[in-house]
Amino acid sequence: MTDGKLLIEKLLRYAEKFLHLESRDEIYFRNILLRELRLTEPFDGEVDLSYIDKLDVPDEIVAELEEYAVENGIAKEEEKGLFSGYIMGILSPLPSKTNREFYRLKEEKGIKAACDYLYSLSVKNDYVKKTAIAKNLKWEYADGTRILEITVNLSKPEKDNKDIAKLLTQKVSANYPMCRLCKENEGFAGNISYPARENIRTISLTMGGEKWFVQYSPYAYYNEHLIAVSEKHAPMHIKSDTVEKVLDFVDFFPNYMIGSNAALPIVGGSILNHEHFQGGGHLMPMHKAGIKTEYFCKDFPCINVGITDWYNSAIRLESEDRKEIAAFAKRVVEKWENFTCAPCGIFAETDGVRHNSCSPVARKDGKKYIIDIIVRNNITTKEYPDGVFHAHPEYHNIKKEGIGLIEAMGLFVLPGRLKKQLAMIADILSGKTPYDEKALSDKENYLYVHRDMIRSLVVEYSCGKLTEQQAEDAVRNRVNVVCSHILENTAVFKDDKTGKEGFDAFMKEIGAERK
Ligand SMILES: [Zn+2]
Repeated sequence: MTDGKLLIEKLLRYAEKFLHLESRDEIYFRNILLRELRLTEPFDGEVDLSYIDKLDVPDEIVAELEEYAVENGIAKEEEKGLFSGYIMGILSPLPSKTNREFYRLKEEKGIKAACDYLYSLSVKNDYVKKTAIAKNLKWEYADGTRILEITVNLSKPEKDNKDIAKLLTQKVSANYPMCRLCKENEGFAGNISYPARENIRTISLTMGGEKWFVQYSPYAYYNEHLIAVSEKHAPMHIKSDTVEKVLDFVDFFPNYMIGSNAALPIVGGSILNHEHFQGGGHLMPMHKAGIKTEYFCKDFPCINVGITDWYNSAIRLESEDRKEIAAFAKRVVEKWENFTCAPCGIFAETDGVRHNSCSPVARKDGKKYIIDIIVRNNITTKEYPDGVFHAHPEYHNIKKEGIGLIEAMGLFVLPGRLKKQLAMIADILSGKTPYDEKALSDKENYLYVHRDMIRSLVVEYSCGKLTEQQAEDAVRNRVNVVCSHILENTAVFKDDKTGKEGFDAFMKEIGAERK
């Protein structure tokens, strides 16, 4: 049995060390914890708790808290995570105090110190799930001069049948908070179908003259993955104001990049009903790419403009002059919205439905602003009902979901099922498991979706002859190549004659000529 009284002392020591709990408030919080843990008097004795000061993540102390809650009937097994989130929220500084400290650090020590403070607080109060994130499979694919980063996402917990059954009986509000990004999530208790947010801490700032806030992502895909969210629950859109917002962001956070998902289904992110951007402290593979073709625009002579040397279609602008780069970027965004190029299959509109959108991505390098605008189109045809510029069906076994901003920049987030499936495929190539074509064509077979890829791998590597390592490498390499093809699928201007002419036509539209 967990010693509840001792647990309270551990929590207090942890909060003082990592969550900025002041010693003046210790007695007050001890009494709160006594009430929450349903105890009447505190721990009485001497014990060495110095190990707490060395904890890197809160896992151990959170596990103990959850165990105690279940043992003592304070929380049911499936609700123990809600309970620990609630307690960690109580022990964290209030949003107002967090904001004051963030701005004080930014002012006195610079933005990096302020970000370190918020990120460390978010990890230490168990909002950012550092240990779960570390479980993701991760590797890099060097494709000539380009790089892709590939992650198999194993960090998000999957709901089991028990949780789903419970869902049916629980009373939940359908419209509060209105969505998972709304400001009203700050401190929200959550329920079995909705994540608890007592321990989230956000920072308020102004972007494009509007009230926004930033928060770290609990299941980050990359280093210090940050989300900027509008205080208003209003749909995503990419217009001139988007450009001002991303520039305001990089002026505030010169250490982070920021980008917006395209504002249409298929080519956008998973949440289109609440305006938000994805940012953070990671230089994306696209950022490391150079310029493929240089252009010159006489209206904006101080701006370097070119086509990014990337799989999909992106225009890069570089300048130290914020006003000029903003004006040019707005022109690109506006012109793209109405651009049609029949030979490339790009139609801005069909039957009154708009298809063009784009992802503006901004960052700073010293005083220089760098904006990449990835142009997208979500048109569907009879041949490609899921999208012409979407992963084509032969690659859906690897990724079927929309290719949003993060993947468009070269960081693939693949579904967790692949960990086991890829290992099983490697076993076939190494001869550990026999290749059974007939069994694989059964829809119930776990590897059914991969049957064509397996057949092609078996032919290429004469099945069963590879060592375990070679087999694993062969499968991974196939995934790498598929990811690069998926990005090529999303290119509205292909890397061929028609595509190049189409891209030139668009560059002409924005007033740029080849150098
Ligand atoms: Zn919302």
